[in-house]
Amino acid sequence: MQDKENILIIGAGLCGSLLALRLAQRGYQVTMYESRPDLRTTDISAGRSINLALSDRGLRAMKMVGIVDKVLPFCTPMYGRLIHDIQGNTFTSNYSGRDGEYINSISRGGLNGLLLTEAEKHDNVTIHFNKKCTSVDIENTTAKFKCYITKEKHEVCADLIFGADGAGSALRKSYYLEKKFLFSYSQNYLTHGYKELEIPADKIGNHQISKDHLHIWPRGQYMLIALPNLDGSFTVTLFLSYDEGAYNFNNLTTIEKVTEFFKTQFPDALDLIPDIDNEFFNNPTGALGTVKCAPWYYKGKTLLMGDAAHAIVPFYGQGMNASFEDVVVFDEILDQHQGDWETTFKAYQKIRKKDTDAIADLAIDNYYEMRDHVANPIFKEKRKIEMDLEKTFPNDYFSKYSMVTFNETINYATAMKIGRAQDKALLNLIADNELDTDANLKTVLHKVQQQTKEILQEDKVAGLQ
Ligand code: FAD
Repeated sequence: MQDKENILIIGAGLCGSLLALRLAQRGYQVTMYESRPDLRTTDISAGRSINLALSDRGLRAMKMVGIVDKVLPFCTPMYGRLIHDIQGNTFTSNYSGRDGEYINSISRGGLNGLLLTEAEKHDNVTIHFNKKCTSVDIENTTAKFKCYITKEKHEVCADLIFGADGAGSALRKSYYLEKKFLFSYSQNYLTHGYKELEIPADKIGNHQISKDHLHIWPRGQYMLIALPNLDGSFTVTLFLSYDEGAYNFNNLTTIEKVTEFFKTQFPDALDLIPDIDNEFFNNPTGALGTVKCAPWYYKGKTLLMGDAAHAIVPFYGQGMNASFEDVVVFDEILDQHQGDWETTFKAYQKIRKKDTDAIADLAIDNYYEMRDHVANPIFKEKRKIEMDLEKTFPNDYFSKYSMVTFNETINYATAMKIGRAQDKALLNLIADNELDTDANLKTVLHKVQQQTKEILQEDKVAGLQ
């Protein structure tokens, strides 16, 4: 095996460009092909989430490649959720009781552009835009591309091919079409899709609602969320069924119906979205789904990473963070088996897949939590207790949300296992009126810890872990 192989990366999105940067820092020859134009010189934001929540797992990856100081200026911290009820009343729910734990709203284009620029600073990285991969010959590590500009087709041969080409991955498609090995694959769509709208900045460029929060308008069967942008605007996302309920994407076909929907369900938001008529009918409706597959690799030749290996629904704000963490985990494993790619890929999947499966399931849980439970009195009480526990015992209590979002040293699978048991314990204790928070918080902590331990033990006996 040669020392520094030629590596081909398909897809210059968030995962691909971070991977290119890291592999270049390690001295590999990296060539990356992207189907879309260069987003630093063309506006191609329409249709994809314009901003995203970046949290500790993603920031850890930025630290790994040494660019965290360049990323932070793109960030707007969000300290908690600000929930809007149907009457226009609001209440807040912090993400953590500990100081310094918050998530960051960041522009997808800004972050992706920065990663591309940082990767391109290395002489051993070449990036080609407007070139779509149409298929991969995995045995011969050769990928076929079509250029959108010249319409010409060509082939690229490499020592290794990484598929970082997102949820619709061409490499993953070649895995099941080539039928060279037993490839398991599932794709599950939600019955809901999403559409992005905008709350513009006010006349002097300020945010019209709190920029320190992720805003949620939970309505059970549907919801709106809004994340702040640096220019004073908010990107608003409507999550709505395609065809169920009184209001759905299929029946909101006229301006009158859309206005009626927003007037009755999100009256305070409607006042802030002046261009709703245009945006609702011109912005695309995106699908939401979960992709799970295995194996991610073929021999020591190809590997899927990021959404290509494990696309998830966006409700935990972890898809990008998980894709970035993929690169961190991969990088650590690379150190252990350098040069032996099959062993590296195998070890990477072994350690990583249980975690990406876990965050996929947690993201579905959060779908129900955000659109419904956040407004439920028992859920609100639970979150209040969790905030008090985290504030008073910052080293002893970590909510599920904190473990997933702010504790990059706890893997997703462990966060899910402990977090779910802890949630169950808290909800049981609240329902049974066994928590007197005014009395003694230490007793509350002990009761929650004890009950969590018992639930974990029961789950173990029942073979649920
Ligand atoms: P992508 O970002 O999809 O990048 C893949 C790249 O490959 C693209 O540039 C694409 O053009 C290119 N490509 C695709 N096919 C080909 C081909 N055949 N040939 C060449 N190039 C190709 N995550 C978070 O962490 N926080 C959030 O708040 C968050 N919010 C989200 C909101 C929404 C509405 C959605 C849909 C997702 C959200 N995500 C969030 C998830 C996040 O967007 C993804 O997990 C992340 O983009 C995955 O990065 P990736 O590089 O693997 O895939």
